[in-house]
Amino acid sequence: MKNLKLANKLDEQGKKRETEIKVKDLVIGRDFLIIGGPCSVESEEQIMDAALGVKLAGGNMLRGGAYKPRTSPYAFQGLGREGLELLYKAGREVGLPIITEVMDTRDVAMVSQYSDVLQIGARNMQNFSLLVEVGRTNKPVLLKRGLNATIEEWLNCAEYIMNEGNEKVILCERGIRTMENYTRNTLDLSAVAAAKTLTHLPVVVDPSHATGRIELIHPMTLSAIMAGCDGLEIEVHPNPSKALSDSEQQLTIEQFHLLVKDIGKTVEFRNSLEK
Ligand code: PEP
Ligand code: MN
Repeated sequence: MKNLKLANKLDEQGKKRETEIKVKDLVIGRDFLIIGGPCSVESEEQIMDAALGVKLAGGNMLRGGAYKPRTSPYAFQGLGREGLELLYKAGREVGLPIITEVMDTRDVAMVSQYSDVLQIGARNMQNFSLLVEVGRTNKPVLLKRGLNATIEEWLNCAEYIMNEGNEKVILCERGIRTMENYTRNTLDLSAVAAAKTLTHLPVVVDPSHATGRIELIHPMTLSAIMAGCDGLEIEVHPNPSKALSDSEQQLTIEQFHLLVKDIGKTVEFRNSLEK
């Protein structure tokens, strides 16, 4: 792929490489990443219950949005800095690193003080000033694929971040917009397999935003593992029907627990196959 230098699968000698990214005790790219947590941080009780549930189920990173990119300006926009503080506290309390979205260049330094990983949302994938700004931090960045972005555009955005000196980029496939409207988006698993051949960066899949449907999360999660992903990002809420955002796609803690068991078995099976 043209223009892919720092993110290219092949090094200057033409040898294939894989990147490992350390986040506290976790080595992304080696340890299978299981990010769980609510769409939005809503209250201290909600994020604490979610954090404990994710930890006990076997998740290894906690998510929660404090700055939310909502379609309507009248929808819940997140708790902002208060949400960051609650997420930070919950993560420390249960011993999980945290990830949250940063939407604005002006917030990058502040969000970096709280979060172990910075998330760039699908709607901001090609916000080049934001990519440059996170590229100047030393925090791992999870870069979601844009709703209408090609694989080449997605990987070039990773290149933007790396070109500023931050090589700790994790790619995330979260579904793209197609003519299909039964599902919220169309999960493009071929992009996962393709990204694994094109770049050395870890690739994560978000089956929650990709499908928008509870009953599709389990099969798509296992399929994503077989497509070669290095991890998953899944929305989990202690009381999904009461969630202030994305209530229709968040798993209960019990559902997440069962899913994590099958994730473990599927990763083990995949690792047992011949390459
Ligand atoms: C999210 O993960 O909180 C989110 C808003 O997802 P996306 O940017 O993929 O829509
Ligand atoms: Mn969401």
